[in-house]
Amino acid sequence: MTVSWTPHRFSGGLLALDTANTVVMRGDAAGFDRFADVAEIARFAEAASAFRATELGGRRLAAPQPERIAPAVLEIREATDRLFRNAVVAGGIATDDMPPFLRACASVLSGGTDRIGAAGTPFGDPATPIAFEVALAVSALSLLGELSRLRICPNCRWLFLDRSRNASRVWCDMAVCGNRRKARRHYRRRIAAGGKAAAREVDNV
Ligand SMILES: [Zn+2]
Repeated sequence: MTVSWTPHRFSGGLLALDTANTVVMRGDAAGFDRFADVAEIARFAEAASAFRATELGGRRLAAPQPERIAPAVLEIREATDRLFRNAVVAGGIATDDMPPFLRACASVLSGGTDRIGAAGTPFGDPATPIAFEVALAVSALSLLGELSRLRICPNCRWLFLDRSRNASRVWCDMAVCGNRRKARRHYRRRIAAGGKAAAREVDNV
């Protein structure tokens, strides 16, 4: 079954975080990988071209041969998640997490001809597309300067950037994770208050 790349799946706020979040409930027995079918990498890249257009300066992502780039993409994804998840939990980057992360990024940047970081064209000239794996590495490296805004959603464990003015965002997506958590709390309260009859009633909603 193909993945529907909905706006919710781009709640991370940055290409590298949305990519890290393609593993759902990471570390949990019920978790799964939306890139298990590597063809999804190309479909994700297409959706991300629109959802991450601001970050990318309007440059589209190209992933014409997802099976060829899959090993590098997954290596960057896993190294990004490990380094930044640990950093949020522990309150700082473990220097020992950096070499695998930097090597994963370097492997796709080596020999490239893109020019990044210019005003208005952060990922290079939008007249042509950029290779997805190159953009992913650039986005992942940019996270090193975003640590103070990085959060882990307490409901789904996704990584996301909190860009709220007072840095108070709790959920990756209030409409999804915030509401699910609220519904669960409500359900537990009804059970505690009214026993099984109340539980059945809530189940039927
Ligand atoms: Zn969430």
